[in-house]
Amino acid sequence: MSGQLVYLDGQFVPVEQAKISVFDHAVLYGDGVFEGIRAYHGQVFKLKDHIDRFFAGANALFLQLPFDKKGMTEVVLDSCRKNNISDGYVRLVCTRGADGLGLYPKPEAHKPRLFCIAGQVALYPEEAYRRGLNVITSSYRRNKATIIDPQIKSLNYLNSILASIEAHRYGADEALMLNDDGIVTECTGDNVFMVKDDEILTPPVWLGTLDGITRQSVIKIARELGYVVKEEPFTHYNLLNADEAFLTGTAAEIIALTELDGRKIAGGVAGSVTMKLLQAFREYTKKPENGAKI
Ligand SMILES: *Cc1c(COP(=O)(O)O)cnc(C)c1O
Repeated sequence: MSGQLVYLDGQFVPVEQAKISVFDHAVLYGDGVFEGIRAYHGQVFKLKDHIDRFFAGANALFLQLPFDKKGMTEVVLDSCRKNNISDGYVRLVCTRGADGLGLYPKPEAHKPRLFCIAGQVALYPEEAYRRGLNVITSSYRRNKATIIDPQIKSLNYLNSILASIEAHRYGADEALMLNDDGIVTECTGDNVFMVKDDEILTPPVWLGTLDGITRQSVIKIARELGYVVKEEPFTHYNLLNADEAFLTGTAAEIIALTELDGRKIAGGVAGSVTMKLLQAFREYTKKPENGAKI
């Protein structure tokens, strides 16, 4: 994107000047938090929820964010305004900051760095929404909450990155991740849902799942449409034999999962419940009460 301006520590700078030290703990150790956010129709979708999650993750990491929630909200909105974004994608990031090479980030020495990139959204082609995704089950298990809680959208995404590399090496679009007990959690950057006998199931967050904001929206929309939605554990076997399955996330929105480990789900095309929810979700993003005006 030409002329793109990146927010960095209180200033908007051209992309070439948006730089972070090689000593930043985010570079050395993956130490920091991020959010992926969408703007639709001149408003930032569910911005309050994203800001709340950003603060909750920072709190879990003892990371002192440089603004309060109101100030952080303005950083995101200003980033959209500066780049004339009314539909796009926003990445909000806070790193631990730089000092020496040591593991312990001294609060008196490490000054967190905040940046925000507002640009175009990279979407799956519309055809992929009808065809659905080919998914394999990763050999990497989702991080346990007692080790690194997957609810933290931290800058250490090696668990997901390894699973994603594995999926692509096998020619698949995405990887399904199980927890240590072999129960379905989510995909590398998207939550997972299944439909069986007109009921919609998604794994509960405590199993080792990031509490996606699209996930929350889909649960609400589906209930409003009259579906029974349960946050309940299910197995790989249950998912293989689902009537329909789909993934949810800020960038992907709602996209069908139509092949899992070589077995077709819903006959290998996006199912009717999935498509109905996608349509309803796209309407939902337009409502003024679901976003913050840019
Ligand atoms: C961001 C993310 C999601 C999706 O969350 P949304 O808030 O809907 O974008 C799901 N899983 C993981 C691991 C994620 O990082």
